[in-house]
Amino acid sequence: MISLLGIPWDGSSSFLRGAADAPPIIRQAILSTSSNLALERGGQFLFGDTVLDLGDVELDANDGAEAASLIRAATEAALDVGHPLLCLGGDHSITWPILKATAPRHERLTILHFDAHPDLYPDFEGDPYSHACPFARIMENFEHVDLFQIGIRTMNDVCRSQVDRFNVRVRNASETVSPEELRFDHPVYISLDLDVLDPAFAPGVSHHEPGGLSTREVLNMLHAIEAPVVGADLVEYNPHRDVNSMTAMVAAKLTKELTSLMLFTP
Ligand code: MN
Ligand code: MN
Repeated sequence: MISLLGIPWDGSSSFLRGAADAPPIIRQAILSTSSNLALERGGQFLFGDTVLDLGDVELDANDGAEAASLIRAATEAALDVGHPLLCLGGDHSITWPILKATAPRHERLTILHFDAHPDLYPDFEGDPYSHACPFARIMENFEHVDLFQIGIRTMNDVCRSQVDRFNVRVRNASETVSPEELRFDHPVYISLDLDVLDPAFAPGVSHHEPGGLSTREVLNMLHAIEAPVVGADLVEYNPHRDVNSMTAMVAAKLTKELTSLMLFTP
């Protein structure tokens, strides 16, 4: 069984709000009778059976710092339930407080980060809690965490110097990732920003960055991972930008397959 937690926070978004409305819409898309609950590699996504729904975090916060401390506390409580935890954002800023709770529980952890953007700014327009910064915060604070970024296509000088500083492994969207690179003998955490996909596949995101991956390419990489997947987040779905709920269905699909990884990988 896995735990599912919604984190409806978009107050750290630099361009558009809207991602806070995502969690209930993703749940609805999962349950849509236009599809079913089957997981590609067997088993089913069943609330109350394979999936324990912990609901959405109450986020009555005035700023990113306050939100981060509420998200961290909610994550600690969710992890104490004892199952691998899948969090639905929200904007990408939620990954820092989630990891603040998650990383100390593991001796070594690799983060597989799927994104058009490296999200490594020391701060963004003065905000260290911005959704452009979570991986800077994580890498500054945890020496036992490795970061592997996939699908990147917006690397600039500021983030490149952070890549060097934190020894980040980066595969740009133009590069292929071999199955061997997705084998680990220690736990893995997956952080999946929907804008890693080409906007043609997922228009319902705040930042349209052309030249991205297909849904199938991301699913194939997820299925190629050989490691215990101990946690994951799916972030940056913005329902206000969606077209005919097509991105909601992509988010639902990825939620189901991330669940499958956490249920079945060794
Ligand atoms: Mn991101
Ligand atoms: Mn992004």
